[in-house]
Amino acid sequence: MYNPKSLKAEEFIDHEEILDTIRYADENRDNMPLIRQILDKAATRKGLDHREASVLLACEDNDVIEEMYALARQIKKDFYGNRIVMFAPLYLSNYCVNGCVYCPYHYQNKHIPRKKLTQEQVKAEVIALQDMGHKRLAIEAGEDPVNNPIEYILECIDTIYSIKHKNGAIRRVNVNIAATTVENYRKLKEAGIGTYILFQETYHKESYEKLHPTGPKHNYAYHTEAMDRAMEGGIDDVGLGVLFGLELYRYELAGLLMHAEHLEAVHGVGPHTISMPRIKKADDIDPDQFDNGISDDIFAKLCALIRIAVPYTGMIISTRESQAVRARLLELGVSQISGASRTSVGGYTDEERPTDTEQFDVSDQRTLDEVVRWLMESGFIPSFCTACYREGRTGDRFMSLLKSGKIHDCCHPNALMTLKEFLEDYASEETRRIGMKMIDRELLNVPTEKIRNICKANIDAIANGKRDFRF
Ligand code: SAM
Repeated sequence: MYNPKSLKAEEFIDHEEILDTIRYADENRDNMPLIRQILDKAATRKGLDHREASVLLACEDNDVIEEMYALARQIKKDFYGNRIVMFAPLYLSNYCVNGCVYCPYHYQNKHIPRKKLTQEQVKAEVIALQDMGHKRLAIEAGEDPVNNPIEYILECIDTIYSIKHKNGAIRRVNVNIAATTVENYRKLKEAGIGTYILFQETYHKESYEKLHPTGPKHNYAYHTEAMDRAMEGGIDDVGLGVLFGLELYRYELAGLLMHAEHLEAVHGVGPHTISMPRIKKADDIDPDQFDNGISDDIFAKLCALIRIAVPYTGMIISTRESQAVRARLLELGVSQISGASRTSVGGYTDEERPTDTEQFDVSDQRTLDEVVRWLMESGFIPSFCTACYREGRTGDRFMSLLKSGKIHDCCHPNALMTLKEFLEDYASEETRRIGMKMIDRELLNVPTEKIRNICKANIDAIANGKRDFRF
C-alpha cells in the first residue's frame, strides 16, 4: 500500500503506485486543461508531485515542452542565479564485494588492478586537487567491509581536512559510499561531512535485484531506506540519484520524486541534491548491453522536469557527460558540476589520465581552468563556496533560507569571493582576466548594499593575500 510516510521501502516506493502513475500519465498526455493546470502550479515554484511531473514527461506537445523548458530556466535563475558550484570526485578504493553488473568494480572483474589509497597517497591526491583549485570533494569507494571499513573512510576524511598546502584547503567533503548503519552515519556526521550521496541506481525492485545479483547491495530495502538511516544518524543533507539507462526512465522519474516526497513527509526536508548520471562505457562494461539508454533530448526533458518538480534541490552533472550535454543541462537546471575529474584510484597524481582503474569513461576531459573559463564565457559564475554547512545552514535551515530568497545575499558574494581566490591562486592569465571582469560586473548584483560593500572589501583583501571569507 502506497504510503509516503512509511519507513518501509516498498511502501514509500510502491510499485503499483508507479505503474498507476505511468497509466495516469498516458491517459492524460493530451489532456490540455490538466496540463495547463500542472504548468500553472509549477509556475508558482512550489514544485510538482510524481503524478503531475509524470504527465508532463508523457506529453509530447512541442509548445508544452518549450513552456516547461522556459519555466525550468526561470526557476534555475530565481533560485540559483548564474552560479555553478564546482567539485571533484576522489576515488579512495576500488575494492568491492558487490556484483553490480554495470560497474567495472564488481568483484568478479579480475582484469582491473585493485587499489586502495594509503594515507600518504590520499595526501598526495588532495595536494594535486588543491593545486588545481578544488575546495569541495566527493569521496568514492567500493563496498568492502574488510578493505574499506568505515574506520578507513573516517581516517581518509580526517587526512583530507587536515591538509593545508600553499593556500589550498578542502573545505567540504561529500561522501558517496555504500548504504550503511545509523551508527556509521553518525560517525560520518561527526567527521564533518557535507552531503551523504547514494544513488538508488534503479527504483524498480525486480530489476534492482537482477542488476545487483550478489553482495550486500543486493538488498533493495536496505539500500532504499539508507537515507532514512542517514537522517537518523544526524546527516540532514542527502543526495539522491538514478543511474539512467538501467530501467525505463518514466519509472525512474516517478520513483525518484516519490523518494523526495518521502523524505519531505518523514523528515520535513527533501533531498539536498539530485545527481544525474547516465551509464557509460567502462572496463568490462558495454552500455549497449542495457536496453534503456536515453537520448540527449529525453535527458534534457528529465532535467527540466526535476528542476520544476523540486525547485529547492540542487542538481549535479558529472564529467560522464560531454561539454555539449553539460552546456544544455546547465541552462535547464543543473547547479553543480565536477571538473577535471579522474575516476581512477590515485588518478590525480599521475601525469597522464590513467585508464586501468577508471570507474567509467570521462567524456569531459578539460582542465579545471578550462572549465572555469568556459563557464564564465557562458555567463555562469564558477563557485568554490562551501559556506552553508560550515555555517550550520544544512537541512531545513538551508531550505528555509533558499525558500525566503535571502540565499542570494550569501551565495552570490560567497561565489565571487571564492572565485577571486581561484583566480589569484590557480588561474591562467586569460582565465584571470575574464574572471576579474566578471567579479566587477557581478558585484553590482549583490542585493543588499551593506553586504555588497563587505564583499568588495573582502575581495580586495583576497588580492592582498587573505583567504576564506564567507557569509
Ligand atoms: N560503491 C558505492 C555504492 O555502491 O553506492 C559508491 C558509489 S560508486 C563509486 C558511484 C556511482 O557510480 C554508482 O552509484 C553508480 O551509479 C555509478 N556507476 C557505476 N558504474 C557506472 C558506469 N559504468 N557508468 C556510469 N556510472 C556508473
